[in-house]
Amino acid sequence: MSSSSSASATPSQFVIPAPAIISLPVQGSKARFPVNRIYCVGRNYAEHAREMGHDPDREPPFFFMKPATTIVTDGGAFPYPSLSTDVHHEIEMVVAIGTGGSNIPVEKALTHVYGYAVGLDMTRRDLQAGAKKAGRPWDTGKAFDFSAPCGEIVPVSVIGHPASGRVSLKVNGEFRQQGDLADLIWNVPETIAYLSTLFALQPGDLIYSGTPAGVGPVVKNDVMLAFVEGVGELHVQVT
Ligand code: MN
Repeated sequence: MSSSSSASATPSQFVIPAPAIISLPVQGSKARFPVNRIYCVGRNYAEHAREMGHDPDREPPFFFMKPATTIVTDGGAFPYPSLSTDVHHEIEMVVAIGTGGSNIPVEKALTHVYGYAVGLDMTRRDLQAGAKKAGRPWDTGKAFDFSAPCGEIVPVSVIGHPASGRVSLKVNGEFRQQGDLADLIWNVPETIAYLSTLFALQPGDLIYSGTPAGVGPVVKNDVMLAFVEGVGELHVQVT
């Protein structure tokens, strides 16, 4: 293959400055986890599916994406986005892929995980609802700047694979969302296996695993505290 037909290049070949690699801190280490693609699972807790007006039948999982540039790290700010007046929090456990693969069997899926983190799938609910109604893509509602706050990556070597445990979100000290990882409709191995039939997973991919019930709006100056038992916490302020 000639160099002009390949997507890879050396830095000196770039005509404009290349974007930096987005990364997350790794707990207990100075090393960092490079973020590749961000996949998000829709409606993966029955109570949340019901609150969004859907029948939580176990239909196949569905996915949407956010660019890696939407990451906000722990202690960071979430600037209230433009063109929206209804912006919701969605607390989710994040799965960090360490080794890639296609058509990964469920029973091998966890061997592809490097670690876990606490994330927020921030959502312009008004724009998402408009897109749903018009049969349009969700990108403006889901994949906007600063829409993917994510805490430090906790390696599997430290915490194993959390399959149950409390998932909660407090806004200004008051509980808004409470659930349990055990109530995921598609658990982590099943989600990885299914997603890997649609995309060849790559090292650095993150999977936001879905949110429990209780999603709701935030306003400027709100302080969000997201928690996943066995994984950790994530603090983000709306500015
Ligand atoms: Mn979500």
